[in-house]
Amino acid sequence: MFYGMGIFGGEMGQAQMLGCDEALAKLLAGNKRFIEGKLSHPHQDTGQRVLLGGGQAPFAAILACADSRVPPEVLFDQGLGDLFVVRVAGNIINDQLLGSLEYAAVHLHTSLIMVMGHSCCGAIGAVAQGSALEGHMASLIPAIQPSVDKVRNMEGDLTDNAAREIAKMTAEQLRTSNPVLAPLVAAGKLRVVASFYGLESGKIELL
Ligand SMILES: [Zn+2]
Repeated sequence: MFYGMGIFGGEMGQAQMLGCDEALAKLLAGNKRFIEGKLSHPHQDTGQRVLLGGGQAPFAAILACADSRVPPEVLFDQGLGDLFVVRVAGNIINDQLLGSLEYAAVHLHTSLIMVMGHSCCGAIGAVAQGSALEGHMASLIPAIQPSVDKVRNMEGDLTDNAAREIAKMTAEQLRTSNPVLAPLVAAGKLRVVASFYGLESGKIELL
């Protein structure tokens, strides 16, 4: 049942994977448990840990911000081996992050990628305010700036509006990314969704 070990620690059979709609429903059900304080903490036992030594078959991939307040495994109430998570300040995309998500889609047969922005994002807020960022933090600016510019005149909170926008823009970049992801989307084997997480409500809003 386990296939060869891949660079991220092994691949499991495609037959076990959920379809994209089922995967999304499973994420939202976990978020509902999180909001209501009825966590089930699945797949965090010793047996699951040992089992996963043989391979992984995460049902969803998540591109999220590095912010300590938005860990996907917690806010979707999932455990070991459930989510393939890529995190970076501002949930931006670059070639290395894209390659990581491609690995999940192609080799782990993950059928859903969620790009998750969140409220009160420090990285997006800094760019929205035109703050000077030192060192390598400055490299985040050109990746975030287009989303800020797009919503500059929109009503509401600039940072949160830009966080929604960057999630949508990044999701579209993934959907149209060649040569790997776009054909999977066209074939119905992969769905890419954008979402926005409210820090205080705990709620995932699909965009
Ligand atoms: Zn953030």
